[in-house]
Amino acid sequence: MNEHESEKLAGFLTEENYEATESSAAADVIVLNTCCVRAGAENKVYSRLGVLQPLKRLKPSLIIAVCGCMAQNAEAFETLKTRFPYVDIVFGTHNFDKFREFLKRRAETGGRVLEREEEGGPVCEGGVYRRADKNRAYVNIMYGCDNFCSYCIVPYVRGRERSRRPEPILQEIAELTARGCREITLLGQNVNSYRGEENGAAVGFPELLRRIDGLPGAFEVAFMTSHPKDLSAETIAAVAECPKVKKEIHLPAQSGSDAVLAAMNRNYTAAEYLALLDRIRAEIPNCAVSGDIIVGFPGESESDFAATLDLVKRARFSNLFMFMFSERPGTPAARMPDKIPIAVKKRRLNELIAIQREVVNRLNKRE
Ligand code: SF4
Repeated sequence: MNEHESEKLAGFLTEENYEATESSAAADVIVLNTCCVRAGAENKVYSRLGVLQPLKRLKPSLIIAVCGCMAQNAEAFETLKTRFPYVDIVFGTHNFDKFREFLKRRAETGGRVLEREEEGGPVCEGGVYRRADKNRAYVNIMYGCDNFCSYCIVPYVRGRERSRRPEPILQEIAELTARGCREITLLGQNVNSYRGEENGAAVGFPELLRRIDGLPGAFEVAFMTSHPKDLSAETIAAVAECPKVKKEIHLPAQSGSDAVLAAMNRNYTAAEYLALLDRIRAEIPNCAVSGDIIVGFPGESESDFAATLDLVKRARFSNLFMFMFSERPGTPAARMPDKIPIAVKKRRLNELIAIQREVVNRLNKRE
């Protein structure tokens, strides 16, 4: 999502006649499009800003802008405002589409532009993307998330779910494929709850997939990310039946322990998750399923972790993204007791990596 939005920022800059430079030292404008889903990503931004300070001293006309999820967070916004006075423009996710306006204001007034809006407005259509790859493209279908998983900062910095209308999505894909794009990835924090408005009625995700599949041209379409509680039978059927839809599903599990899943507010049990995988594999032969797991969630006992290892063995993920729990201030999980020491989190992560490696080796041997 972040990468794709950077393509939009680059598009805005192209419209203002800027060109990409090889190095920061040669740039007139530097934009840091930030992520705050994990503490590490946030710390990287602060250290990057430290590196940019000497550049700004050498070239006072350089414009430094910080935007994205981290800038949307009220606390981080304050920090950027007060501790980094050499940052010229700070704006969040809700006023992302006003970047060109902010650039102009900065050029006209010479003053800092510090703008953060509490609520996300209606979806903004338009804008020219400067896409990195002409064969593959991301297409955003919705913004925000209503799920409030207890560890996740996304609903607080991206706002509530807002879907694009089907028509501009289909038009964007038709234009991309007419220009030779062969692989489209639909993006959304929770694509399965897509509900685009059309003539006063709602178009759901399976219907959107079928309409995309019906577009002319030779291309494939993938999507991410799916929430297990929202992946419907209709979506599974659409994936199975639409030849252009790739037979792969990314389905974050996060844990194999029902107690941890409940504390995470994920709204499914390990048994329900595994049953969903069985349904996917029965209906979509050779479907590649990838997942996410978080280890070291507050209160995760050794038996909870053993349940996660068991789920991973049974799930047979073709690819698994594995993380240590990263505390995000402002989320319910940050206020939970029984934090897991870092050494335990690391040990569990290593054990999990080893188990997943065995799973993949076994899958590869079978092929
Ligand atoms: S569904 Fe994904 S984006 Fe939404 S709150 Fe949960 S983890 Fe965050």
